[in-house]
Amino acid sequence: MMLIKYCAEHPKNQTNLKCSQCNKLVCPLCMVHAPVGIRCREHGQARRLPTYEISLAILLRGIAMGTFLALLGGILYGIIYLFVTYDSLLFLLAFAGLGLMIGESIGIATNRKRGMKLQYVAGVSVFIAYVSFSVIVGTFLFSALVGTFVGLAISVSRLK
Ligand SMILES: [Zn+2]
Ligand SMILES: [Zn+2]
Repeated sequence: MMLIKYCAEHPKNQTNLKCSQCNKLVCPLCMVHAPVGIRCREHGQARRLPTYEISLAILLRGIAMGTFLALLGGILYGIIYLFVTYDSLLFLLAFAGLGLMIGESIGIATNRKRGMKLQYVAGVSVFIAYVSFSVIVGTFLFSALVGTFVGLAISVSRLK
């Protein structure tokens, strides 16, 4: 007698394919191609989750890192503006660079996690840097605002 096997999720589909993690039978309708071979839906998606799933502790680490760098950068730039130079282009580049640094540092602080929540954290952080800078210099600097938007876009893209 031939042993005919059927998919665990689709009992009408004959199959010999198995999930490489749990050995559950899968058919072309429900199998997922993972770097480690064929997987069932549950285990095929598990690869993706660790990067995007963010615990509260990780989120707080991202917020702490973002806020810290934002205040540090904003205050430092403020001091440079007041006592060293008020070259517009410099502050445009400085805020764009700060955005890159904030995006990267949040990534490192959260073990390379990504996703919407961290993108928000990064965006708000860059904005905090601009606000603290503006408070210190006591004036509106257009180039710094442009730099802030560039930095915001960069920081958000680093965490996509
Ligand atoms: Zn499985
Ligand atoms: Zn199936």
